[in-house]
Amino acid sequence: MTDLATKIAARLGPKGVVTENADLAPFLSEWRGRFSGKTPLAALPATTEEVADVVRLCIEAGAKITTQGGNTGLVGGQIPDGEVLISLRRMNRIREIDAANDSLTADAGVVLKVVQEAARESNRLFPLSLASEDSATIGGLISTNAGGVHVLRYGMMRDLVLGIEAVLPDGRIFSGLKGLRKDNTGYDLKQLFIGAEGTLGIVTAATLKLFPRPAAREVVLLATPSAERALALLHRMKAATGAVSAFEVMNRLSVEVTVKNVPSVRDPLQGAGAIAVLIEFEAAHAEGMRDAIETALAAAIEAGEAETALIAENAGQMRDFWALRELISAGHKPEGTQVNHDVSVPVSQTPAFLARANAAMEARVPGARIVAFGHMGDGNFHYTVMQPLGSDAAAFPGAALTQTVYEIATALGGSISAEHGIGVARRSDLARFKDPESMTLMRTLKRAIDPNNVMNPRAMFE
Ligand SMILES: Cc1cc2nc3c(=O)[nH]c(=O)nc-3n(C[C@H](O)[C@H](O)[C@H](O)COP(=O)(O)OP(=O)(O)OC[C@H]3O[C@@H](n4cnc5c(N)ncnc54)[C@H](O)[C@@H]3O)c2cc1C
Repeated sequence: MTDLATKIAARLGPKGVVTENADLAPFLSEWRGRFSGKTPLAALPATTEEVADVVRLCIEAGAKITTQGGNTGLVGGQIPDGEVLISLRRMNRIREIDAANDSLTADAGVVLKVVQEAARESNRLFPLSLASEDSATIGGLISTNAGGVHVLRYGMMRDLVLGIEAVLPDGRIFSGLKGLRKDNTGYDLKQLFIGAEGTLGIVTAATLKLFPRPAAREVVLLATPSAERALALLHRMKAATGAVSAFEVMNRLSVEVTVKNVPSVRDPLQGAGAIAVLIEFEAAHAEGMRDAIETALAAAIEAGEAETALIAENAGQMRDFWALRELISAGHKPEGTQVNHDVSVPVSQTPAFLARANAAMEARVPGARIVAFGHMGDGNFHYTVMQPLGSDAAAFPGAALTQTVYEIATALGGSISAEHGIGVARRSDLARFKDPESMTLMRTLKRAIDPNNVMNPRAMFE
């Protein structure tokens, strides 16, 4: 490996290789401390050609590779365990903005926030938005097919990518950086790399879709008595306004623990409702939007779909409403032993999922505390089960509860991973819950593109 480090340094220069333990440490664990690993060296190429050369040098040396972007992934796929780490951090250029084509081309190491800002400067919108946007990179977001809060209106990362450039497991470069909305010339190869979690190659750049900037925005926070009413409310607000860009829910306990554990957060609903709903609306014109929202809210209150309803009156209130939602992950972390899930079901099945899962958790662990929140408008819940207050953490059957949550989601036609991916954390669950034919097809693709299992060899597959 010393020899490999020397060869990589000769190609990339001294800035391109890290071998000292202290310098490697930030690459080897993630922010929650749930995953940690080891590597003989980290390579930091600055161009696509450098990535390709590093991959070829690794192959010659018989080394495997784990790719890392912003190291914000939640399932551990970016942390090496003996592989060479290739970090895309130095590939951080916006290559081109073609405003007339509503597209932007960026290196894979560009941080999402920078892309959002570049789009804004061109009077355009790049709509992907999530709590890790200050650190997550375009390559990581593509590789995990990230979702976030605007999927309802704009889709997931998969829907926002026009073209991809990637270095293949044998060091060749796939040049698919097209800015086309229509291209029916066979298989859509760029899609292979989206959601592949680095197992099929290293994404080095992408051409992304831009959108007009919405001139008008409103944010509503309201209380609703049940998931059934929340679902009715979602469809009412979509039909009445045509402008819903986010529909996020938080069960009462998720709000309570966040207010308790995050000093900056307060509950504007003051305890009302079994479920808090945050709805964001966006439109090209402000005219008529507030009226349409108020009329729809009045009808929702009349129908029992909403109790207390608050419309943010200024940017500060909008931020406060969103802060409550975005800080829920931090809010329930200190609440003892817990298991977290990121599941999806068809939107129509969201009330059934919550009813069945809550009942099953209570039957298995009486007094179990459930934090259920997330993107109900996309059928996606972040569903956490926490040990009962004052109970023995060692007696908490977390792994068994996870299997039950996954069985319930799957039985409703859902998925065990809505947006966070598989990584190393969910490999055995994937093998158990994905249908056998899909697993066979996935393995066939992996073998065809990466026959020697060079790229992220521990991610996704057992
Ligand atoms: C606070 C917080 C909130 C989050 N909220 C959401 C959310 O709402 N929705 C959502 O979908 N996700 C969310 N995430 C997780 C999200 O998936 C990651 O933040 C992001 O997509 C990963 O980007 P990254 O650059 O940090 O990638 P990393 O963490 O470095 O890597 C993630 C995976 O992608 C691979 N990879 C990284 N770069 C490349 C590349 N260039 N080529 C090939 N493979 C690569 C890695 O090997 C790894 O398997 C959240 C994370 C945090 C910490």
